[in-house]
Amino acid sequence: MMKVQLYNTASRSVEEFAPIHPPEARIYSCGMTVYSFAHIGHLKTYIASDILRRTLEFAGYEVRHVMNVTDVGHMTSDEDEGDDKMDVGAKKEGLSPWELARKYEEHFFNTIREVNIIRPQVICRATEHIQEQIELIQRLEKNGFTYITPAGVVFDSNKFDRYADFARLQLDGNIENFRTAADPDRKSPQDFSLWVLNKPNHVMQWDSPWGRGYPGWHIECSAMAMRYLGEELDIHTGGIDHIPVHHTNEIAQSECATGKTFARFWVHSAFLNVDGTKMSKSLGNLYTLDDCRAKGFTPLALRYFFLQSSYRKPINFTWDALEAAQTALAKIWEFCSELPAPSVEPLEDYLSEFRAALYDDLNTSAALAVVHKLIKSDADPAAKARTLFKMDDVLALDLATSRTRLNDLRTMRGATQDSEQKALELAQQRQELRKQKNFAEADRLRGEIEALGFTVMDTPAGPQVKPLG
Ligand code: AMP
Ligand code: ZN
Repeated sequence: MMKVQLYNTASRSVEEFAPIHPPEARIYSCGMTVYSFAHIGHLKTYIASDILRRTLEFAGYEVRHVMNVTDVGHMTSDEDEGDDKMDVGAKKEGLSPWELARKYEEHFFNTIREVNIIRPQVICRATEHIQEQIELIQRLEKNGFTYITPAGVVFDSNKFDRYADFARLQLDGNIENFRTAADPDRKSPQDFSLWVLNKPNHVMQWDSPWGRGYPGWHIECSAMAMRYLGEELDIHTGGIDHIPVHHTNEIAQSECATGKTFARFWVHSAFLNVDGTKMSKSLGNLYTLDDCRAKGFTPLALRYFFLQSSYRKPINFTWDALEAAQTALAKIWEFCSELPAPSVEPLEDYLSEFRAALYDDLNTSAALAVVHKLIKSDADPAAKARTLFKMDDVLALDLATSRTRLNDLRTMRGATQDSEQKALELAQQRQELRKQKNFAEADRLRGEIEALGFTVMDTPAGPQVKPLG
């Protein structure tokens, strides 16, 4: 059997995947912090873990996939500084942190379903696993890896001599700009909270052996991963931003509690940037799947867009690039919608080339190249259909329902053109209102135009509209 090769952050090299309990492959994915909408950067990372899962299943493994929901304890910095993101978000929206968490959790799972991400078998919320977290902290306490300050129970990183290894940290006082938490009672800047005390304004609080408080963000992932997958995972996934702090801390606390290697493989996806800069709310370049749809893109165009490059490469997002991805996907759908009923047997040579691409550290762009080669080939159309639909077990581009997908896309595109026409009419009315100095009404119309997903540009030739963003 051909073996799956994966890049392992722990060794900084590509290694052959071999699970601890074959044929089962146990994967833990760090989930969303549910204080706001999931954006398309999140989707890059979760599509990567979905491709990993589907590839392992394609290779015959039985995947057990666990994903947490961070609904407490993730501070506004990835260290312990600032406030809990849940508290900040809840105040802003006039909701309780619990209501906020449910709202964005639901949005997240609806979003990932639309890009055909298979829902992990276990979804676990941090707030529903407080006892497991307390027990893990107690194990660490018993093993001598903690100390207590007025701020809470802290992990003593100096007691774990491999602390810096995973992220190749230079702990010589030159710790980049991460670990700035200025808690005067900490022995070292990289020590981190396991249980937070004395935060009376924090809404979510639980009793513990150390007093009322709440867990740190890192301990929740270790505790829930072990609860559902045991003390040794096959694969742990996340975005590369988690390497220096979150995953470093997960490894430290898990391995100091159990004495075992926490995860054999660490698979990290690189970031999605926008127009050459970091995607962020403050820069106004943070897009959700809903934004993409409002501009006439089908969710699967985004999936195709990500499949075009390696999960390990940072991607620069532009609307033009998404348009090109959608055009390419629509062509595949067009081709597939004309195919006859699939034959019984797939084309093994194409499948094995496809497999080789994916097993080479999830090389989805090479896998798509095989798809295009097959489409162009003069193979029997019924066999092509069978082979393409089989490949779609991993690609998940809805190839078997291409005709419906294409129709949906055309309907949506038509609707978007209607919106543009309507926005242009409103922009012309707005110009008249401005001439009449009725600025209040003109502003209201600008709001309506924006609600349609467009912005107005005043040009010498009159008002024009273009998609927002
Ligand atoms: P968070 O909710 O911030 O904990 O993020 C959830 C997951 O999405 C983590 O694995 C992050 O590394 C990942 N992530 C966040 N922003 C991006 C981005 N712009 N590109 C790719 N992955 C991201
Ligand atoms: Zn995590």
